Amino acid sequence: MTKTDEIIALNEQYGAHNYHPLPVVLAKGEGVWVEDVDGKKYLDFLSAYSAVNQGHRHPKIIQALTDQAQRLTLTSRAFHNDRLGEFLKRLCDYSGFDMALPMNTGAEAVETAIKMARRWGHQVKGIADGSQEIIVCENNFHGRTVTIISFSTDEECRLGYGPFNQGFNIIPYNDVKALEAAITANSCAFLVEPVQGEAGVIVPDAGYLQEARRICSEHNVLFIADEIQTGFGRCGARFACDLEGVKPDAICLGKALGGGVFPVSAVVANKEVMEVFTPGSHGSTFGGNPLACAVAIAAIDVLEEENLAAHATELGEYLRAQLDKIECAKIVEIRGRGLLAAVEFEAGFEAWDTCVALKDKGLLAKQTHGNIIRFAPPLVINKQELDHGLRIIREVFETIG
Ligand SMILES: *Cc1c(COP(=O)(O)O)cnc(C)c1O
Repeated sequence: MTKTDEIIALNEQYGAHNYHPLPVVLAKGEGVWVEDVDGKKYLDFLSAYSAVNQGHRHPKIIQALTDQAQRLTLTSRAFHNDRLGEFLKRLCDYSGFDMALPMNTGAEAVETAIKMARRWGHQVKGIADGSQEIIVCENNFHGRTVTIISFSTDEECRLGYGPFNQGFNIIPYNDVKALEAAITANSCAFLVEPVQGEAGVIVPDAGYLQEARRICSEHNVLFIADEIQTGFGRCGARFACDLEGVKPDAICLGKALGGGVFPVSAVVANKEVMEVFTPGSHGSTFGGNPLACAVAIAAIDVLEEENLAAHATELGEYLRAQLDKIECAKIVEIRGRGLLAAVEFEAGFEAWDTCVALKDKGLLAKQTHGNIIRFAPPLVINKQELDHGLRIIREVFETIG
C-alpha cells in the first residue's frame, strides 16, 4: 500500500462518509501550489472553494497568526478583547457598512443574516412574529444547517433531514418578475448569491441584481447578498455586487475572510438593521476571537495591498478566453466572473474521471453537479502559473473528444 492509499483508508474507516474527495493526500502548500505526501506538486485550482484567495500560507497572514498565538487566542464575548474592535472597523471600512457581527463559518453567517432579517421584519417592518418570509432562489447554496437546507432545492442535501423550517419562499434565479410576484406584506428579505457558486458558477443577466435591488427597496424588503464565495476579490471586485453597482442592505461573508488559515465569517449591515440584535439574542463562543481577528485583518490587508481584485479581473478574462479556445466537442459553455470560472460539459457527462486526469497531470479541480468543472485558483496566481494550468487543462480536455 502506498502512503496515499494508507491515509485514505484511515479516513474511510474512521471518518463519516459525507464527502467523496479526489484520491490525493495533501501535506504542504505555498501560494498556488500544494504538495502531496509523496512530494508531488499540484496547482490548486479550487482554493478550498475560494477560502484561499490569498494563496496557501501567505507569509503576512501566517505572521499575524503566529504573533497573535503568542499573546491571546480566545476570550469568548463575555469580555472584550483588544483585537475585535480593530477587526470590525477594518471590515466595515472595507465593505462600506456601519457594523459587523463576527461568527466562524459561512453557514453561521447566513443563519445570523436570517435571524437579523426576521427580527428586523418583526420589530421594524411590523410583520407579526412567526409570519416573516424570506425569498430565496432555486439552486442556491447557503450552507448545511437544517434551517439553510430547509430552503435548498438540491434533494441530496435534504434527504432524510426533515422536518424543515418554514418561512422561505423559493423563486427561480435571475428572474426579476418572479421576485416582484413573490413579495408579500410579510416579506422581510431577499437572500441571493450574486453569482451562484455551487450551482456551477451561474452568472445572472446584466441588470438582474440592480433590478432586484430596486424591487426590494420599493417594497421595504432587505436585499441580502451571500458573498461568502464571490467576495474578497474572487469575482474581480471587493464584492460581486460592486460589479453591478449594487449596494445590499447586508452581506454574508466567510471563506477568504479567514485568509486560508482559520474559519472567520461575519455579517455586515448598516446600523438601522444590525441594531435589532441585543445582548443575549445571538452569539458564538469562538465568534470574534482575537486569533480570528488578527488573521482576518491580515487577510483583508493582503487583498488590498496586492490589488488582488484587479488582478482577478485581468487574469479571469485571460483564463476564460484561453478556455474558449480549447477544442472539445463536449464543452457547452465557459462562463465566470473574475477568477471564478466554470466549464460546463454536455448533460450526462461525468467529470470525475476528467478531474482525476487533471490531478494526475498536476492540477486540482473538482466537478460540481457531475458535468461542470469550476476553476478558481488563488488570486495570487501569476500569468506563468496560469499558463501552466491552462496547458494541463488543454491536454486533458482535448483527449475527451
Ligand atoms: C461555502 C458557502 C457557504 C457556507 O460556508 P461554510 O463555511 O461551509 O459553512 C455559504 N454560502 C455560499 C455562497 C458558499 O459558497
